[in-house]
Amino acid sequence: MRTVSPTVERERLRIVAIIALAFVPLLFIELALVQSQTQAGRDSIAAGRLALARSVASASDTFIDGNLATLRALTNTRSVKDADVQNVNAILTPILRQDPNWLTFGLSSADGWNLSSFTTGPHTVNISDRDYFQAALAGRDGVGSVLLARGALNAKTIVLAVPVTFNDGTKGVLSGALSLVNLERQLGQVVPSETIDLRMVDRLGHEFIGANAGGDSLPDENARPEVRDGLAGQSKALVAKDTRGRDGLLAYAPAVKPGWVVILSEPIATAFTLPDRLGQTAFVLTLLGVAAALAIAWYFGGRLARSYVEVDLARSIAQGERFRLYDALRHAPARVGLLNGPDLVYAVATPDQLDQVGMGEEDVIGKPFSTVDPEPTHRAILERVYNTGEPFIAKEMPSSVRLPNGQLVEGYYDAAIVPTHDAGGAIDGVIYYATDVSDLVKGRKRVEELAAAVSAERDELQQIVNEMPEGVIVMRRNGGVMSNRTAEELFGHPIMATDDPDDYAPRHADGRPYVGRESPIMRALDSGESVNGEEIIVRNPTRGVDLNILASAAPVRRDGEIVAAVSVFQDITELRAFERQRSEFFSMASHEIRTPVTAIQLQLDLALRQMSRGDSSRTEELIMKARQRTKALTALINDLLDVSRLDAGKFALDLHDVDLVEIVQKAAGEYPTDPEHPILVVAAAKPLTVRADTRRVVEVIENLVNNAVKYSPERGTVTVEISTENDEAVVRVRDQGLGVPEAERGQIFERFFRTSVAKPYGGVGLGLYISKEIMTRLGGTITLESSSPRGSTFRVSLPLAPVPAPTR
Ligand code: ADP
Repeated sequence: MRTVSPTVERERLRIVAIIALAFVPLLFIELALVQSQTQAGRDSIAAGRLALARSVASASDTFIDGNLATLRALTNTRSVKDADVQNVNAILTPILRQDPNWLTFGLSSADGWNLSSFTTGPHTVNISDRDYFQAALAGRDGVGSVLLARGALNAKTIVLAVPVTFNDGTKGVLSGALSLVNLERQLGQVVPSETIDLRMVDRLGHEFIGANAGGDSLPDENARPEVRDGLAGQSKALVAKDTRGRDGLLAYAPAVKPGWVVILSEPIATAFTLPDRLGQTAFVLTLLGVAAALAIAWYFGGRLARSYVEVDLARSIAQGERFRLYDALRHAPARVGLLNGPDLVYAVATPDQLDQVGMGEEDVIGKPFSTVDPEPTHRAILERVYNTGEPFIAKEMPSSVRLPNGQLVEGYYDAAIVPTHDAGGAIDGVIYYATDVSDLVKGRKRVEELAAAVSAERDELQQIVNEMPEGVIVMRRNGGVMSNRTAEELFGHPIMATDDPDDYAPRHADGRPYVGRESPIMRALDSGESVNGEEIIVRNPTRGVDLNILASAAPVRRDGEIVAAVSVFQDITELRAFERQRSEFFSMASHEIRTPVTAIQLQLDLALRQMSRGDSSRTEELIMKARQRTKALTALINDLLDVSRLDAGKFALDLHDVDLVEIVQKAAGEYPTDPEHPILVVAAAKPLTVRADTRRVVEVIENLVNNAVKYSPERGTVTVEISTENDEAVVRVRDQGLGVPEAERGQIFERFFRTSVAKPYGGVGLGLYISKEIMTRLGGTITLESSSPRGSTFRVSLPLAPVPAPTR
């Protein structure tokens, strides 16, 4: 069963009471109408009664008139005029018999002597107290009501009397008594209702028809107003007490002829039954209508009240919620504002919001938003939310507001602006909620800047590391490997992370492969060992050569735990080669020096010994040999000096425009003739002027010729060919010697380099090196043009001097 809340009940009662109250005037009007209609009904009934009374009166008049006429007609008969009793009776008897109205007739003389009577014999009548008698004697019609008590007859009668003038000239009276029964019956027929009492009161105030009629003494009704007024000739209908003391409708009218008053009376209840009943019915119907209306009001009022109360409840809940929300919001640690209506009037502003705008609550609450925050874009956003109902959500929105007090407030906010709705669902304001994320945003920006800086620094570091001439590899415990460009160039591939020893896996300096995780970086990573300069050998896959690498490795610890290992690789291949060459040079140089010095010593010793013995036959030969060796030694020492000069950057050139043909011929010509190695000079016809240092060019040519001879153990001609090519002067030195192995051709101009096949022959590997340096400085070239095991061709070129100039 549905329970009805007291609130609903109260509201229902209220609605019903309002409707009931609205019915009160209607009810009054209705009652007044009913009343007036009832009254009108009563009035019309009263008027009907009055008319009825009048018609009864009129019927009475007619009745009396008719009977009087009868009597008057009789007075003109001869019998009456003659006062002939016998004949009078003969006339009257049939009338008595035929007309039941008449009870008796009497013809009297003026003195009261009754001449004719049907009930008694002639007798004297006392006429003094009979007004009708007096009236007739006076020549008028007389009418009176009389109680006739004669023998068995004891009845109320109406006596009519008309004047008679007898033939003898005397006056008399003809009278007749009319039966009231007939009159009553006749009049009763005029009165339609049994409930209406008909009363007739004569001018003496005696009621002769009616409830009180009869008896010996007729009651005197003169005291009653209707009798009095009726006898005075008035007629009226009124409500008054009837003779029995009941409220009744009285209607009275005078019957003029006999001087009676006709009075009709009826109890009110009966008389006014119809209008009263109609009135009552109307009243009851009105009440029923009101009751029905109230019942309907009760029913629908309940529903109305329920829905009203529900709406009201919803509204009050919403209102309550809103107040609770206000309360919660007021303490929210954020900028919150609740704005009402299209003007966005502040209803709530949190302390943060007030702080932000630097105003007190009294300056904000109740004021439109625009007076608090003059920034037009903010207002535009709020208005858009208000007008469209679309919420506005923003993250890290930059905000810059110049407050009315001139202060500039800047920051970043996470903001939500949403519309609020009333209980009917219509937008009635907006609420904004903004959290200050300035610190967060600034912090993040700072972090981003730092990260960018760190990243830049890291990039820089990476670049530095990349540009380092040493290879660097960082291997992390989690398996990540990072390497710089040099490392990648050294190892030919990014990394050496593999445990599988393959062709490219690092090896010990003695060539043994590293087993398992034996390499320096692995040891640093696994056991924290710091490896300082361990030489390893790695095959470079791109160049196809073995490299000598000096590897150092160290662990990287974080919180005492090894997280990575860093390894630095230094390519010492050249160093090792240089060292090798140098040691070879020293052994060679010592050999190259010791051998001639020993020989010179022996030769000089031998010469001295022979001279002391006085034998000088071979002295000159011995000294000449010693001198030649000294010359070779000097050449070697000069080479060494040249190298040191080149190293010191003090290699000076004495430049002149010279004829290359001449120089080359001179150099070749000065070379000691050897029948096993004839030297053939093929020269261009004309002089080839070049700008050069003659001594150095001679040195270069001599060196080439010397090599051509030295590395041609199987004899053979050495050809020196001078020519021009384009604008160059070119010298080619050809031999038929052992040639330069292909793999070593690129290195023969390097300092101390000697080919593998040249080892058995003397030399320190400096000649070609110095020659190359000289030619480069002279602006020319020196190359091994071709070489095979059957011979080699070296080519030297110098730019031709454009215009022959005089030698300085
Ligand atoms: P060296 O004193 O050893 O001759 P060089 O600088 O003159 O020094 O020559 C360097 C090396 O080049 C020689 O050791 C030799 O191996 C090679 N070489 C030079 N000239 C010839 C040549 N004509 N034929 C073959 N090999 C040569």
